[in-house]
Amino acid sequence: MPDSVQKLAALTARVAELESERALTLRLAQTDSLTGLVNRGAFTAELCERLEAAKQDGGQVALFVIDLDRFKHLNDTLGHHAGDLFLAEVGERLRCDTEPGELVARTGGDEFALITTGADPARRAQRLVRLLAQPHMIYGRMVSPGASVGVAVYPDNAADAGDLQRFADMALYRVKLKGGRRWSAFDAELRDENTRRRTLEAELRRAIPAGEIEPWFQPVIDSRDGRIMGVEVLVRWRHPEQGLLAPAAFVPMAEELGLIGRIDEAVFEAGCARAAPWVKAGLIESVSFNVSPRDLMDPSFSRKLIGRLGKTALPPTALTVEITETFLLQDLALSRRHIERLNAKGVRIALDDFGTGYSNLRALMHLPIQTVKLDRSLICDVAKDQRVAKLVASMLHAARALGVRIVAEGVEEEAQAIFLRAAGCDRMQGYWFARPMPADQMEMALKESRAEPSGRFAAPPRRRARG
Ligand code: C2E
Ligand code: CA
Ligand code: CA
Repeated sequence: MPDSVQKLAALTARVAELESERALTLRLAQTDSLTGLVNRGAFTAELCERLEAAKQDGGQVALFVIDLDRFKHLNDTLGHHAGDLFLAEVGERLRCDTEPGELVARTGGDEFALITTGADPARRAQRLVRLLAQPHMIYGRMVSPGASVGVAVYPDNAADAGDLQRFADMALYRVKLKGGRRWSAFDAELRDENTRRRTLEAELRRAIPAGEIEPWFQPVIDSRDGRIMGVEVLVRWRHPEQGLLAPAAFVPMAEELGLIGRIDEAVFEAGCARAAPWVKAGLIESVSFNVSPRDLMDPSFSRKLIGRLGKTALPPTALTVEITETFLLQDLALSRRHIERLNAKGVRIALDDFGTGYSNLRALMHLPIQTVKLDRSLICDVAKDQRVAKLVASMLHAARALGVRIVAEGVEEEAQAIFLRAAGCDRMQGYWFARPMPADQMEMALKESRAEPSGRFAAPPRRRARG
């Protein structure tokens, strides 16, 4: 064989080899390795293509988002390997159930999705719920987490892939709130909610640069003498039409939209500007800020916060960062890194809303936390329910033994304050002492309190404070 023919044959073989490698790489990049189904990226690309095609030929595309209901429980009780086995089983069931022209994918941890072009969406959704409700045997145990399904349809509900996905998710979320194991389609009710959210979103984006986000302040009282020893900064939105809005009206939405970081920054900057002089004048010792669990997921959160703190006049030792348990337990290693970095600068960490979550004390005990805030739900019964009183007393005892400071939140009645003080609770906060207030009012209260500590913010009268 002439040399040139040999070279050409070798070259052709190499090209074929490369092409098959490329096809394999491409397939791997588009496939979820656990279930063998298409992954999110490939699924979204296909959804866009099918919508384009439907626009041309006037067809319909239905998107089903599927979420397993009690998968976390299965994972927690039987372990991750069992969880993986179950996900693979779900993948297999879905694959066997797909009809020609349908595409099924694993789009996240325990999330799957399906595109159909022909079938009646309601019947298809029903079939999916039934299919995934069937129990499955793992390690000799019958498990049946069940699944929920949200549906949105092109062109009835949405015109593009982004909206279609969002609307199917909204339908899914609604059915999840109702306990799951059902399906729900995007409808007029969800359309109204979507409009409300869009309006709120646009307003919120405008509100931050417009300076409508304000820090309010609630005093934290020293139980021994009734003095205000610190403040917690709480965000308020001065909405131009709706007036003053509490966090419940916009914080969850801001978290969802990824805007909470900017709100927290604005609150931090304005809060420090107002409170730093109070610290400098010796009116208070500490200023606490709330941080969204979403921000804490950012590995550079603590570094950025330290950077921002450096630009304020607040000494690091006067700063307390309030973190919720949910976040801490989600990623213990990351939590520890943030906490240690902040501690190293002298910043204190408070565990917020303690007593509302699962309170995994063993995990929490190993984190260097300086303060625990007992949630209002515990405090509201201390003076009424002997068992709650005993529980809180033993928490206070344990905290003392561990050298952790306790702040009781939501103290609304004198009887609660009296109990807490007698039980050795260091600090209290709540409507009984003062509601959150704007900066000017807080400043006046601080000056008054210094002049007359046993006045408006007096500790419970029957056990009068030392002056
Ligand atoms: P939280 O950190 O647990 O704050 C305490 C909440 O309880 C505040 O509600 C406060 O006004 C309220 N409160 C205080 N004392 C009493 C009382 O005696 N009785 C009753 N019923 N309530 C009392 P608020 O200001 O509406 O804040 C709600 C939540 O919003 C906060 O709960 C916190 O999780 C979040 N939040 C507040 N400000 C910020 C912020 O700047 N950033 C972030 N990410 N979240 C914030
Ligand atoms: Ca708080
Ligand atoms: Ca709290």
